[in-house]
Amino acid sequence: MSQRKIIHIDMDAFYASVEQRDHPDLRGKPIAVGGSAMRGVVAAASYEARKFGVHSAMPSITAKRLCPDLIFVKHRFEVYREVSNQIREIFAEYTGLIEPLSLDEAFLDVTELKQDNFSHLIDKTGNPSATMIAEEIRKKIFEKTQLTASAGVSFNKFLAKVASDINKPNGIKVITPPEAILFLENLPVEKFFGVGKVTAKRMHTLRIFTGKDLKQKSELELVQRFGKAGRHYYRIVRAEDNRKVNPNRIRKSIGAERTFFDDLKTEKEMLGKLIPIAEKVFDYMKKANNFGRTITLKAKTPEFQSITRSKTFNSEPKDQELFLSIVSDLLKKHFHEFQEVRLLGVQVSNLEKDQKMVGGVQLEFDFWDLENEQED
Ligand SMILES: [Mg+2]
Repeated sequence: MSQRKIIHIDMDAFYASVEQRDHPDLRGKPIAVGGSAMRGVVAAASYEARKFGVHSAMPSITAKRLCPDLIFVKHRFEVYREVSNQIREIFAEYTGLIEPLSLDEAFLDVTELKQDNFSHLIDKTGNPSATMIAEEIRKKIFEKTQLTASAGVSFNKFLAKVASDINKPNGIKVITPPEAILFLENLPVEKFFGVGKVTAKRMHTLRIFTGKDLKQKSELELVQRFGKAGRHYYRIVRAEDNRKVNPNRIRKSIGAERTFFDDLKTEKEMLGKLIPIAEKVFDYMKKANNFGRTITLKAKTPEFQSITRSKTFNSEPKDQELFLSIVSDLLKKHFHEFQEVRLLGVQVSNLEKDQKMVGGVQLEFDFWDLENEQED
């Protein structure tokens, strides 16, 4: 099989940059998109704010403490969605193989270009140059939106995704096949896409700090330590990732979650907050006439550790009372595992119907709380 050419495009501090673009008085200033209220959460931070350590998903009150001059701006999803459509139109000039990950990032497979009027993007070997395409896309994005994007270019999705982060903001990073192995060996494990904070910490206790350390471990050991993900880690560190750029990605779950200003400490307190979230999810499923067999409780501890516990049934619970009692039972059963929570959520998967995305945008985008829409 010939080498694939994958580009990952990621807008820089997307929501915050849109706000600075549209409000010149905010340019050059530390801003956060999100609520400044006691219970607010930062959805996106400008680069000026990031210098102070402000980042997305941070409680607004913490952000304000780190950066007293921080300006909070209310989100305008309809504008972000509009810009998102503009950049997708640019992507579509080159390829039909576009897989959006969120409003502001997408994978593109440009192994074969869409039309034949791109002669200026063909390299010496007669193939499309992904690097030239990525640069042209970044230029067009800026011309059309006055916003900058970063790009990662490589021969698989994993490497392209990791690469787009390297020279952010307004940068590009290309990882060629001969460079990939050394690049991955030197990469700290926390920079591996798919390795979260908790997993990175666990890896550190196993003295795995870089790709090189990760490579010393056998597949069996990694599977024993990390389950199915272990097999994935074993492969990606060897630059093996055959996942296709999938233009028909569909939403496979419905859910809602909420972050609390005060950490919840008792089961009763948690139940009181969880039930309205579960009701919201149930109402949505009913409206969409789309129920699911797997129900997941999500919790996040004050230390930001995420815990999910689920239960799968043979048929979809379609009765509200039944649904709510399943959610409460999950909490009661697993309450002792997290003690204190800063976030609770309910998610339903194994849906009867797939939730189609329209033009790559999830229809029920607004259904999710702002905190879910983190970006960088
Ligand atoms: Mg981004």
